[in-house]
Amino acid sequence: MNCYNHADQTAVSQCRDCNKGLCDYCAHFYQIPLCISCNAMHINFEKKQIKKEFLWTLVFGIVPASVMFIMLTISPLPPGKTMNDVFLRTLITFFVFAPIVPGWHALNSFSSNFKGIFLIFSLPGLFVFYVLKAIVSAFVGLIALPIRAVKNTKRLKELNAIPLSYN
Ligand SMILES: [Zn+2]
Ligand SMILES: [Zn+2]
Repeated sequence: MNCYNHADQTAVSQCRDCNKGLCDYCAHFYQIPLCISCNAMHINFEKKQIKKEFLWTLVFGIVPASVMFIMLTISPLPPGKTMNDVFLRTLITFFVFAPIVPGWHALNSFSSNFKGIFLIFSLPGLFVFYVLKAIVSAFVGLIALPIRAVKNTKRLKELNAIPLSYN
């Protein structure tokens, strides 16, 4: 078998995903033997996961913060309260809920399967599990939010720098 990219070169390896033949050069182009198109799929998948986490973090913060803002401004402000108080409470609401998403991901990366013990309670047990997990996530997220934001931004840059053509 010859390399899918260099027809004159003998394949020394195969793409781990699609089994296309890879010559010595192509087999070592990435850390693991993958062809360009299969690696592009892995990169796109990972990028999508990271963007999804960013998006859900924003949604989890913005939705309750908007509700808080509307509730605070729907009636006249109580005496002694200014718009600054409203903005501050809106901001705090954002940072109470937004960290649930990165906290949730952080918990998932620590322990993949302590869900099992709650499954014996079936559906209501699972509901309780998710509520508890969301509460824990909110606290874990206070630390996980900045860490994951930095880590994910760095990873996105890394992924964007990976070459998607042979040179
Ligand atoms: Zn492939
Ligand atoms: Zn090749």
